[in-house]
Amino acid sequence: MLPWVVRRIGLPLLSLRCPDCRSESATTGEGRFRVNANGKLLDVWLLVCCVSCGRTSKLTVHERAPVRTFDPAELDGYLANDPELVASVLLDPLLARRNRFTLDWTGAWRLDIPPESLDGAWPVRVEVVFEDPVPVRPERLIARGLGLSRGEVLRRIKCDVPLRRTTSAGFTFIVMPAD
Ligand SMILES: [Zn+2]
Repeated sequence: MLPWVVRRIGLPLLSLRCPDCRSESATTGEGRFRVNANGKLLDVWLLVCCVSCGRTSKLTVHERAPVRTFDPAELDGYLANDPELVASVLLDPLLARRNRFTLDWTGAWRLDIPPESLDGAWPVRVEVVFEDPVPVRPERLIARGLGLSRGEVLRRIKCDVPLRRTTSAGFTFIVMPAD
C-alpha cells in the first residue's frame, strides 16, 4: 500500500519577536539573502520581515566565514536567492537555535493520502513518510487522515511511536476495525 506523505506547500512562518512592534510572527517572503564581503571573510544573512509592521531582520547564516570554505554552488545560491537554498537554510534547526526562533507550520504543509488507503483486509497497516520536517502529533494526523475522533484514534490505532508526542520522523500505524 502507498504511504501517506507529509510535505510542505510553502515556507513556514517564524515565531520571532519583532523589536519594534512586539509582534511574534515573521516571514521570509519571497526569500532573500544578504551577502557582505569583508576582505576574504563573508557574512551571509537570511532576511525576514515582521508580518505586522514590515520591519526587516537579518538572521545570521554564516558569520565571518573564509570565502574559500564556501562551495561555489552554495555561494551562487546565496547571491541568486535560490528558493531551494532559502528553504533548506530556513528549515535547518541550527539557524533556529542560533537566532532563537521556532517555525510556525500553520497552513504551510499538507497530508497526501492515496485514495485506496483503506481498501483491503482489516486490520490495515499505514506508513507515514515525511518529505519535509513538519512537526506533527500522530494522534491528530491520524484523526484528520481517517476522519476519526481522537477517542476513536486511541481505541482503534496501534502505533509504533507515542501518539501524543510531536514527531517529524516517519512512523507506521495499524487501524483496527470498528467494533
Ligand atoms: Zn513588527
